[in-house]
Amino acid sequence: MRLLVWAAFAAAFTAGAAHAAPLPFDPEEATQAWLATMGPEATARSNSYFEGGYWLDLADSALNIVVAMLLMVFGFAKGVRAGLERTVKFYFLVAFGMALFYILVSGVVTFPFYYYVGFVREHQFGLATQTFAEWFGEYMIGFALNLVIGALFIAVLYLIIRAAKSAWWIWGAGVTLMFMLVLIMLAPVYLAPLFNTYTPMQEGPLKTEILHMAQANGVPASDVSVFDVSRQTNRVTANVSGFAGTTRIALSDTLIQRASTDGVREVMGHEIGHYVLRHTSSILVMLGVLIAFAFAFTHLLFGWIARGERWGVRAISDPAGMPLFFAILTFLFTVAAPVQNNIIRYHEHQADIFGLNASRAPDGFAETALLLSEYRKMSPGPLELWAFYDHPSGYQRIRMAMDWKAHEMAAGRIPVGPGGPPEGWRPDFVVMREGATPEPSPAAALD
Ligand SMILES: [Zn+2]
Repeated sequence: MRLLVWAAFAAAFTAGAAHAAPLPFDPEEATQAWLATMGPEATARSNSYFEGGYWLDLADSALNIVVAMLLMVFGFAKGVRAGLERTVKFYFLVAFGMALFYILVSGVVTFPFYYYVGFVREHQFGLATQTFAEWFGEYMIGFALNLVIGALFIAVLYLIIRAAKSAWWIWGAGVTLMFMLVLIMLAPVYLAPLFNTYTPMQEGPLKTEILHMAQANGVPASDVSVFDVSRQTNRVTANVSGFAGTTRIALSDTLIQRASTDGVREVMGHEIGHYVLRHTSSILVMLGVLIAFAFAFTHLLFGWIARGERWGVRAISDPAGMPLFFAILTFLFTVAAPVQNNIIRYHEHQADIFGLNASRAPDGFAETALLLSEYRKMSPGPLELWAFYDHPSGYQRIRMAMDWKAHEMAAGRIPVGPGGPPEGWRPDFVVMREGATPEPSPAAALD
């Protein structure tokens, strides 16, 4: 019987495929034509940048775990906790002081690594635009924020661990989500301006189009801001953030400079999609489940590793065990990274489709997918995609756009034309690498 059902399914699927409408062009061929605009050199560089990232992520986790374990094994954590208990006494302050110590020490020890990843390597691949002094200044602002906000959060978490005993992982996950939500709400208003300057976008047809697209999709925004990402990098980016009265549409100056009008519209359509589909809430709920699981496992592993008051740790609520606590969490989140990536990628895929339908700019989508190839490998294998990608791959995005374009053409909703890139079009970074100046994009001409 079951076999029959499967047979019926299979028949239905093959029948569906056989009845696919004829298309004005082959989406796969068009996708390959777009990908070919990169050329072998840029493709190799993109692959090497992104694949190197897999190892750097692993090294990052390993380094943090080693530093934490050294603090445990050599008795530093126990010593600092004893000192804090003698001086500041209150449990909250002991936990807060321990967190400051832990973040500060690991920050100093791991600095060379982050200097390489965040500065040296970004320059090697031609992505960064900052001098060392500029980069270091911003690194320190970020570190100071991390120190204060992080220590505050950890101290609150320890209060919960002590109060809720073996049920702390549920309450802890809830409080973590609340913390993340507050940060997401405050960041655009209070944190982002520490790193970039936001100015109203110049009036013009592009701005009008963005606002129309936003309002047509129910985004309550009446202005568009431009922020100077070019200060840090030439990456293109944008976002729609905030709630109710504070909704803000922002795009990077690099996006306006580098992408065509259609490219900008498509990126804004994608960002509007995140907002309209309420992805912040949805991602937080899914991550919340992951965090609760991670906390529960941390509880079990911590009890097992620190049994018999090893390294002077009295219980999981003892701040002397803080480095061990975060070593375990780091390990678990490294193992669960594919789950997290899949949660994010699921939402990014939705925003991609939304952006295509809102902007109706498939070529703009293909173009910006290629601009992102500077730091994201275009054509990964299926397992690689599953494990490491928090966005659809460049290949998938261009293919999605070409499928959309071919079917819209076939349906008579857009004029029939060729599928691939415009004649002679190549990504700006490929042109620049060859020593030529890229043609100013139509969007730049609008400014
Ligand atoms: Zn997105």
